Amino acid sequence: MRKEGKKIVNISTQAVLPRLIFKVYPKNYILYGDAMQKSDCLFCKIVRGEIPCAKLYEDEHVFSFLDIGPLNFGHALVVPKVHCKNLFDFPPEHAQALIMALQKVGRAVMQGAGATGLNVVQNNFADAGQSVFHMHWHLIPRHAGDGVLPWSPKSYASQEDMAGLANRIIENLSI
Ligand code: 5GP
Ligand code: ZN
Repeated sequence: MRKEGKKIVNISTQAVLPRLIFKVYPKNYILYGDAMQKSDCLFCKIVRGEIPCAKLYEDEHVFSFLDIGPLNFGHALVVPKVHCKNLFDFPPEHAQALIMALQKVGRAVMQGAGATGLNVVQNNFADAGQSVFHMHWHLIPRHAGDGVLPWSPKSYASQEDMAGLANRIIENLSI
């Protein structure tokens, strides 16, 4: 199968490590399946080593590096190696590896940055602030009184208002 002059190959990370895959199948291939990456995606390029980064951690499924525009120094990103746009097309079978990496890198970010707190933030869609459309999790080290990420809660007009919205959400759980 071919697309835009590139060969298309179905690959599974169950069988081969992604780094090996990209040695075997260089840039003129588009891979899909378990190890799918996108040739024009910024974070896929960082994962493949085509764009430099301050790398922190890598395993079979996950890659982590410092954010180039940190909200606090030590602000890190954790991304799955598989290309997905956001939380909703992320293959859940990679969730355990992702959470383990968030714990491991999160602890190290806190220690390394001398932080006493950590925010884990994940933006979905442009209206929520997502600017890179390869799912990524922000690990933001925090210090007392640093004023980063202010939190400004709203109030529901009434209990009925709140219950009505809860019901509308529940009705959508099966979709
Ligand atoms: P988003 O706004 O999509 O949740 O987060 C994207 C993040 O990626 C931003 O915080 C931005 O600073 C970071 N970023 C964008 N381009 C690059 C890059 O080329 N290298 C690194 N290390 N981070 C980047
Ligand atoms: Zn990608």
